Amino acid sequence: MRIAVAEIAQETDSFSPMVTDLSDFETYGLFYGEAMLERMRRVGPIGGMLEVVAEQSETVELVPIVRGWASAGGTISAETIDRLTGRLVDGLRAALPLDAVYLSLHGAASSENDDDVEGCVLEAVRRVIGDNIPIACPLDHHANVTQRMMRHANVLVGHETQPHDPPATGRKAARIMFEMLRGEIRPTMRWCKIPMITPQDQFLTSHGPMKQWFDLARELERRDGVLDVSPYPMQPWLDVAEGGWSVIVHTNDDEALAQALANQMAEKAWELREQFWVSERVAPAEAVQQASEAGSGLIVLSDTGDSVYGGAPGDNTVVLRELLNQQPPDLALVPVIDPETLGIAMDAGVGSTIEIDLGGKVDNLFSQPIHMTARVAAISKGVTVNLADRGICDLRRTALLEVGSVRIVVLDHRSFAINHPILYTHLGLDVGEAKMVVVKTASNFQFFRPWCKGIIRVDSPGMTQSDLTAFDWKRLPRPIYPLDTVENWH
Ligand SMILES: [Zn+2]
Repeated sequence: MRIAVAEIAQETDSFSPMVTDLSDFETYGLFYGEAMLERMRRVGPIGGMLEVVAEQSETVELVPIVRGWASAGGTISAETIDRLTGRLVDGLRAALPLDAVYLSLHGAASSENDDDVEGCVLEAVRRVIGDNIPIACPLDHHANVTQRMMRHANVLVGHETQPHDPPATGRKAARIMFEMLRGEIRPTMRWCKIPMITPQDQFLTSHGPMKQWFDLARELERRDGVLDVSPYPMQPWLDVAEGGWSVIVHTNDDEALAQALANQMAEKAWELREQFWVSERVAPAEAVQQASEAGSGLIVLSDTGDSVYGGAPGDNTVVLRELLNQQPPDLALVPVIDPETLGIAMDAGVGSTIEIDLGGKVDNLFSQPIHMTARVAAISKGVTVNLADRGICDLRRTALLEVGSVRIVVLDHRSFAINHPILYTHLGLDVGEAKMVVVKTASNFQFFRPWCKGIIRVDSPGMTQSDLTAFDWKRLPRPIYPLDTVENWH
């Protein structure tokens, strides 16, 4: 069996002013050819697929082409997506004949020339390989599934959990692909679009309505003839023509069953729609006060408006300003991405005092730079770490600034490490001694689990804010819940 392997993945925040270019893909990992297989071992969906390949009794010949992952950010530049798609298409043409294409995608990527990047990439792949070679895709479950994606892919499997387990999704998609190639099954996909968007507040699959919805998917998967049930609660900052939630069901050659279960899943989501809008967000001033007054242990302050993992710039200063104003009695840790200030701190050196305007430069719509005097407590000229199933992370230069009880780590770029304890420990801080830490994510709190005694969702305004009604939606199909009254959604 000869299988082409590729990944082109990014999650777009349509409301972010940033443009995602090739350097963003390079930052998070852009590899070509054989280097992919080496770098992706146990990492991401491709890492999961490689495990399944090792389990096969027949010989599997992999043709690795391109792997580009850029986490979340602004719209992808036309030049960047053309270049990546071009590499993929050229690689596939050279790789023919093939038995299958394993193509890892995010599902919520949008570019300057096409707001359905995955549909566009799949269409380009189909043009090269024809109609008879299957394409199996692991997707992020925050994908926006489109008609083109459904037309061109044979398998579209989403994550089962939030926080995600990308290797597990990769294994699941790969197992279906191999069973299909051996002729044991005939995957049949049916889907249902659900005209709704909801904020990130209820995105965790460990409790609440999202748990109910994903639990139902697992229950339906246990039925005879059902291969996969993938719910897709679209990430909420994607302003695109076919935007909205969806669900895909894969059965073994049973169209009617696949459609019936997709409809059942959609009904369930619609039934729960108001619960998906329940929020425990706390205003920034109140959040910092609550964290200061909490008992022993670390409080995670989730900066929901500036989620770097959701595509925000990571330089929003709303929560930082509150920390500086209140000066909590115990240590407070907070990250800010600001290459300009980082340069000043590096030049001044450890022990010096600098006067700066910190943050609020990219996100200057929802926040402003803070003028302050800070002491440079530590600097790092760069560290490269292996973050387990997330791969190798090059943290580059960083500086630790002290202002009273507040410890600010200044980064030069949007690194995966921004929500990881390594950000603090590599500069000599002990996370266990801190009272609170600001994380630039609304879901991925797991890295601070060893110390965490509580999570407060801060209602911070920003490019990933939870109040979706405040954005100026231009392309989203209407009517859609809850921006409009939807009389009959079917
Ligand atoms: Zn996701």
